[in-house]
Parts: sequence; structure tokens; C-alpha cells
Amino acid sequence: MAKLVDSKETIAVLQKTNFQFKKQFGQNFLIDSSVLEHILSFSEINKNDLVIEIGPGIGTLTEALCERAGFVVAIEIDDKLIPILEETLSSKDNFKLIHGDALKVNYLSLLAEHKEFSSIKVVANLPYYITTPILMDLLEKRLPLKSITVMVQKEVALRMKAAPGTKDYGALTLAVQYYSNPVIVQEVPPHCFIPRPNVSSAVIHLSLHEKTPVSVQNPALLFKTIKFSFMQRRKTLVNALSSGFHIEKKDLQAMLGSLSYPENVRGETLSLADFALIADGIEELQK
Ligand code: SAM
Repeated sequence: MAKLVDSKETIAVLQKTNFQFKKQFGQNFLIDSSVLEHILSFSEINKNDLVIEIGPGIGTLTEALCERAGFVVAIEIDDKLIPILEETLSSKDNFKLIHGDALKVNYLSLLAEHKEFSSIKVVANLPYYITTPILMDLLEKRLPLKSITVMVQKEVALRMKAAPGTKDYGALTLAVQYYSNPVIVQEVPPHCFIPRPNVSSAVIHLSLHEKTPVSVQNPALLFKTIKFSFMQRRKTLVNALSSGFHIEKKDLQAMLGSLSYPENVRGETLSLADFALIADGIEELQK
């Protein structure tokens, strides 16, 4: 039974170790068992899984993950949490702690050390100041992950799941949806954490596509096209792409016209499939 999620237990660990929260590391520790259960049930962790956890804190999620997973590798940046984790998780023999920055870990060599697992999942209550870089890093590396189930700021979860034409829709939405199918599991209010964050949170589950939903000649060009289209949202697509790629407007207009897009089309109304067609059009123009 996971114990650390109990607020009294968490406070006891924090007091005993005289732990001081560090704002710069986005430390908000989970103290709500029903949220913990939701994370575990959506990620469907079982003994065949290798789980990578980013930012274990005092080990609240880690403890529960170790009880269900085959093996758990947790990456924690804060020196002060290392001895605490060694103590709180001392009874777990299917757990390895990496002391370091999750943005600098070599995930391929980490996975090579655990070849016996074919199912790899990421589960975390992420530090909010680096949510997007961490997720993009994991997705862009094309690691053989089955799913990513993470606590993020609610606003970021809404952006990942947004539909074309809405204010939340943007480059993050398209990148996440290129690699995965996002589902918002649950909204999580500030009182589920110690200390309480200033924003609402949400658990989001990304199941990674085996095959990307669109195919393009050059995926890097697709992401450049998306980036330029959303860099200046108020510009028309032709203007945004012309200044981004240094392509003549008339050539872009002709290409978009041949794909039946109106002259004044804006990126924020286009789907991933639209961007794939346009990126292939740009590829041709650049030949
Ligand atoms: N998993 C714990 C929980 O749910 O209670 C703690 C979550 S807390 C939101 C985020 C954790 O990430 C903290 O323990 C923090 O020290 C750690 N962290 C922050 N930046 C990190 C980084 N770059 N690499 C690894 N861990 C990091």
C-alpha cells in the first residue's frame, strides 16, 4: 500500500529531514490518493513495464509505481532529495535513482540498460517550469515509449488537446498530436499538493502512435512550417511562411492555391493533415 501520498506522512518526512522546498525546481508534492490512483489506472502499469519517472520528490508516486511496475527508474535533480528517496524507497528492490537533470539524461543508453523490458512508459508529476521541453525532448527523440502519463499545468494540458481555430491551438498541440493521442484524465486543484501551486493542474495521458497520423517527405520541415505559422499568429499564412522560409509570396500563394487554400488562410485554422500537405508543398518549392 502506498503510504507517502497521505499528507500526514508527507509532512512527517519533510519535518524529519528538515526539507526546504525549492521554488526554482517546481516542487509541489502530491498528497491526494485518488489522483494517484487515476494516474496509475490510466497508465495501466504492470509488471511487464519499465517506468521512467521524472522528478520523484520524496517518492510518493515512485512508491506506488514500484508496487505495480517491473522496474522504475526515477530522475531527480535536487541533491537534498537523494538521501530522502534512498530512505523512503529503501524497501524497493525494483528501483534505480538517477541524480541529475532530466533534460540531460541519455535516454537511449538508459533504455539499453533495461533491454529485458519491451513496454516502456513515462509517468510523472512534472516540474511545471520545464514541462514543454521535457515532453518535446521525449517525443522528438522517438524513444520506443508506449505512453506518457503526466501531471502538468491545466493550461498546458488544454493546449495539447486543443482543436483548430481555438485560442489554445498552436505548435505544441500539433507536435503532441503528431506523436500521440492525448486524453485529459482529470483536472487537479491546488489543494492536492504541498505546497499549493498558484495554478490548476491536470493529468494528461499521451498514448504514442505506432505510426504517425500523417506522412510527410521531411518531418523537420513540417515542424518548421508549424513553428513559422504560429510565431506571428495575426499574420496570414503566406506572410508568416514567406518571412520564415524566405520564399517569394507569389510562389507560396500559387502553391497554396493549387492545394485549394484561400489566399488569406491563417495557420490557426489548419489541421495537422493541412500542415503536412503544405510542408510537402514547401519542400517542392525549395528544390
Ligand atoms: N513526484 C513528486 C510528487 O508527485 O510528489 C514530486 C513532483 S514535483 C512537481 C517535481 C519534482 O521534479 C521535484 O522533486 C523537483 O525537484 C524535480 N525536478 C525539477 N527539475 C528537474 C529536472 N530538471 N530534472 C529532474 N528532476 C527535476
